[in-house]
Amino acid sequence: MGVDGSNRSQGAGELLADRQEEVAAAARALRAGGLVLLPTETVYGLGADASNPAAVAAIFEAKGRPRFNPLIAHVADLETAASIADFDDRAWALAKEFWPGPLTIVAPIKDTTAVCDLARAGLDTVAIRVPGHPVSHAVLDAFGGAVVAPSANRSGRPSPTTFADAVAETGDKAAAALDGGPCAVGLESTVVSVLEGQVRLLRPGAVTRVQLQQIVGPLAEAEDDAKRSPGRLALHYAPDAPVRINAKTPAAGEAFLAFGPWPGGAGVFNLSPTASLGEAAANLFSFLRAADRTQPTAIAVAAIPEEGLGEAINDRLRRAAGFVG
Ligand code: AMP
Ligand code: MG
Repeated sequence: MGVDGSNRSQGAGELLADRQEEVAAAARALRAGGLVLLPTETVYGLGADASNPAAVAAIFEAKGRPRFNPLIAHVADLETAASIADFDDRAWALAKEFWPGPLTIVAPIKDTTAVCDLARAGLDTVAIRVPGHPVSHAVLDAFGGAVVAPSANRSGRPSPTTFADAVAETGDKAAAALDGGPCAVGLESTVVSVLEGQVRLLRPGAVTRVQLQQIVGPLAEAEDDAKRSPGRLALHYAPDAPVRINAKTPAAGEAFLAFGPWPGGAGVFNLSPTASLGEAAANLFSFLRAADRTQPTAIAVAAIPEEGLGEAINDRLRRAAGFVG
């Protein structure tokens, strides 16, 4: 019996007894900043150390994602989740009822280093869950920290629900790949936010509204579509200062996000002195925040090539500059 009175962990232990070395290798790969193909109850995920911005940037690169959406952080247990996110009584109650399982809880971020800015798309909140699949649980347990793991497909293609499909999609980008058998096809995790004492359903999924209400009572009205839908402008961190893109040089009073060789100086934040798009992606949100904190008249940003991860970086910058609604 597990400490919570269930027999889940014992079952997982039996299943994984002969796979300990494989699990340990996956945890090592994550620690080294590599990507790992992981089975979950819903679909196969492409996982990375959530605290490592370069590893998170590598996920977006591997998927060819056109945008930096906030990702779900997966952890081994409720205690780890509660050390990363600020859980009130309702969040605890939901987690105790539905974890391990397909419920993602959005709560204020407490430990900003455990799930980096890029993984949260710069938000002050974090989406977190404890997956129920024994293989991913074993890896998360061995790893100890949070793993962000969006579906392992390349962008625009269906989510893989078998090991073979996952390997075919992004296996060439993964340092380790774990076969967890076929996933239960269909529903993604339900996403709820538990913020300022209010529980809202952000994405319907495997855990139903009625099931949620049985634990926390009536849910708060969902906010309007623009605020709650994935990848929309309002979900993302927006700097206070206006953003000016494709800038050749900063004007007086402006902060400057440089790209490539550029002399340092007050108010200059170089996204990547070597013009690496991966490094620029990893630094983007934290540098926008740092630039914003200097209270500039505007944040000027150097031109970023529209190729590879540059497409996602430019998408985010165009939104920050107000060119895309
Ligand atoms: P996926 O990884 O494709 O299953 O999608 C992750 C889902 O979680 C998307 O719907 C995201 O918009 C949502 N999400 C992740 N982080 C946050 C957050 N901090 N606030 C609100 N929604 C989030
Ligand atoms: Mg997906």
